Amino acid sequence: MLGLDAVYWSGGNLEGAVKAALAEGRVLLTRSRKIQEKGGGLQFLLIESNDPREQVKETLSRLSLKPEANKFFSRCLMCNQGLQAIPKEEAEGKVPDFIYRAYDSFHLCPKCRRTYWPGTHLQKMKREMEGMISKD
Ligand SMILES: [Zn+2]
Repeated sequence: MLGLDAVYWSGGNLEGAVKAALAEGRVLLTRSRKIQEKGGGLQFLLIESNDPREQVKETLSRLSLKPEANKFFSRCLMCNQGLQAIPKEEAEGKVPDFIYRAYDSFHLCPKCRRTYWPGTHLQKMKREMEGMISKD
């Protein structure tokens, strides 16, 4: 949502996550303390908080990441690919009719082909994210 290059590991065990992070040159975020034994050579961040909003703040702070508001929702929420703006006509038939009529701006994920539009929840989520990245 913040527009940062991030992938969710759904492969199950920590060993697999470590291998994938090493192969892709990623920092592994985990709440598992086992990472301290298994993370040889890996850059990792042991997340302390239980609260998702606090976890975001903790990650941004400890990795010195500065998300930009104009990049929010610029990546596919399912596969992390950068979204591409598409002409309204291209969205016809790919989104419900009432959505097609209500919006003029649509984006497509070139990888999984999901279509995105600025739903009513978007402004609320953007405000919430701006709150998370603000210095307080
Ligand atoms: Zn996608």
